Amino acid sequence: MTELREGQGAGRMVLISGPSGCGKSTIIQRLLSSPGVEFSVSATTRLMREGEVDGVDYHFLSKGEFRTKVEEGAFIEWAEVYGNLYGTLRAPMEAAIDAGRVFLVEIDVQGALQLRALGEDGVFVFIAPPSFEELQKRLVGRGTEGPEVVERRLKKAEDEYRERVKYDHVVVNDDLDKAVAEVRSLAGIAEEKS
Ligand code: ADP
Ligand code: 5GP
Repeated sequence: MTELREGQGAGRMVLISGPSGCGKSTIIQRLLSSPGVEFSVSATTRLMREGEVDGVDYHFLSKGEFRTKVEEGAFIEWAEVYGNLYGTLRAPMEAAIDAGRVFLVEIDVQGALQLRALGEDGVFVFIAPPSFEELQKRLVGRGTEGPEVVERRLKKAEDEYRERVKYDHVVVNDDLDKAVAEVRSLAGIAEEKS
């Protein structure tokens, strides 16, 4: 669990992993409307999807730009995921935690376990699909990847699922409202005032 450093508010990093299509982005989007919650905008070399905004969903970089950031030590972790590079930027994470905010990091399993091995403080949450059949349905239904990519992501999902035991918490995303409420509670995010 997160410890408070001297002079710090109750800021914390909350890492959210799980197989592609399990609902990580959907859950995170719902939590972002609460005050004091910030999303970690990762850098990536993958192509922008329709509807995505540079600097909001990701910082979209060329491979060269990404490598420069690696050399500068700008990432707390980075990894190759499905053939593209992704990295979590250090500076916004430190600023958010120092400001007492909850910093939500969407990260693949290898990245999260890298941070765990480094002893990085945070709440590690694994989002699991209710079943692999349902995961396939969601991935296909999202319609952002072709059949080959979906197939590759489903194969990887089985390996990722085995790693769930290394997380602090596993949340099954069957009923979305319930899953959001569970993650909210684990992350220590206050209920939204209506
Ligand atoms: P991820 O970010 O983990 O890859 P997404 O958040 O993009 O996954 O969700 C994949 C698809 O599943 C989306 O179309 C989303 O609307 C849908 N989805 C997410 N959570 C649920 C849920 N609890 N029940 C049904 N569909 C869901
Ligand atoms: P997508 O391209 O579908 O947005 O994300 C693909 C995968 O990359 C997801 O598993 C997501 O969690 C992971 N990912 C996104 N940002 C980062 C990051 O900064 N670091 C790591 N290691 N993985 C990330």
